[in-house]
Amino acid sequence: MTKRLFIKTYGCQMNVYDSARMADLMLPLGYTPAASPDGADLVILNTCHIREKAAEKVFSELGMIRRLKQARERQGGRMLVAVAGCVAQAEGEEIQRRAPFVDIVFGPQTYHRLPEMVAQALDTAGGVLDTSFPAEAKFDYLPESPAAPGVSAFLTVQEGCDKFCTFCVVPYTRGAEYSRPAADVVAEARRLVMAGAREITLLGQNVNAYHGAAPADGEWGLGELILSLAHLPGLDRIRYTTSHPRDVDDSLIAAHRDVPQLMPFLHLPVQSGSNRVLAAMNRRHTAGQYKRTVERLRAARPDLALSSDFIVGYPGESDDDFRATLDLVAEIGFAQAFSFKYSPRPGTPAATAADPVPGPVKAERLAALQAVLQRQQRAFNESCAGHVLPVLFEKPGRHPGQLVGRSPYLQSVHAEAAPDRIGEIVPVMIRAVEPNSLAGAIAETAIAEGVHAA
Ligand code: SF4
Repeated sequence: MTKRLFIKTYGCQMNVYDSARMADLMLPLGYTPAASPDGADLVILNTCHIREKAAEKVFSELGMIRRLKQARERQGGRMLVAVAGCVAQAEGEEIQRRAPFVDIVFGPQTYHRLPEMVAQALDTAGGVLDTSFPAEAKFDYLPESPAAPGVSAFLTVQEGCDKFCTFCVVPYTRGAEYSRPAADVVAEARRLVMAGAREITLLGQNVNAYHGAAPADGEWGLGELILSLAHLPGLDRIRYTTSHPRDVDDSLIAAHRDVPQLMPFLHLPVQSGSNRVLAAMNRRHTAGQYKRTVERLRAARPDLALSSDFIVGYPGESDDDFRATLDLVAEIGFAQAFSFKYSPRPGTPAATAADPVPGPVKAERLAALQAVLQRQQRAFNESCAGHVLPVLFEKPGRHPGQLVGRSPYLQSVHAEAAPDRIGEIVPVMIRAVEPNSLAGAIAETAIAEGVHAA
């Protein structure tokens, strides 16, 4: 009998990937995806611990789910409720205590056991908790995905992190670094391409720390893996995220130089421009090392555009430290960035650090930083106007007759095009820069109308 599965995914692309694999695991058991939790047989909240007050947001969502579960029971049905992901890993017992109606709590390393956990929860009245870090490799137990991946697909190649930045929960929620064997990654990429993907984003919490078993002997780093994937016919675009500046090695830089499929856009978090703050954060690189890495990457791929993450107001950050961040931003120039006020994550070393920066100071610094970053983003996007960019169309746009896709620099681009061009890489003349996207016209049309590529 068909059952309905609703998964709500929070946070990063790795959670998006994990949620899709959970759906794959449950499909053979008759669970098909539902668009809403109302009336679902199994509801999974796949949570993220990165943002402020993450656990509180999950508890507030659970309040709504509980009402739906009770309504289902009044109608004689049964809804299982599961909490997965990093909040589950970090706060599993607390979830069971505060929300005893939750049937299953499991972390990111045990979701391959989901069918067993569901069977157990259906058979017993008590809750199931599995937040262990099992010895077996989760990926060996995941089925091949029967779902069509879409034009642009994610592929997890690495999980966990050994860096222990003082503000970050990942080493505690995702565990130690683990890299999938290269042959498994290549096989999954081949399947994705055969099912229609033209772009693959390689995922990992610290993706360029990848060191998977090589198909023959030894290990491959991310550079070697990308080189091998570039030989897959039909795979036109490769991206990877999220990387650590310290793990940008020679082979990865060579891949940026030698692999045209590797897109010229890199998210390389720096967090701060101050060496004092970087040391306090245990980032294991200095501002100077970051700049030199960027120089080497740009020498290898001169059109490389960069994105980054910034934390302002880390405990002890002085005005001079913050100025160093502004200096680094001015020197490097970012096409895009994510910036946040520091807020403590329970269980991390920084959560108990002395010398917190007052809230209004943090707010002021964030506003100043974002003003610069937004100017840089706008300038980068404006520099694309009048140029023809190859756009991979992914789906219909908001307006009839429009498709939306991505430029090599990950900008969202919309243009008028027939629906059968989804999945094609099409030259688009950029004509307008909007706040969060670019607008253009397919270059044949634009040229016919007398507009020429710069
Ligand atoms: S490298 Fe990234 S994932 Fe690892 S601890 Fe630092 S911030 Fe967290």
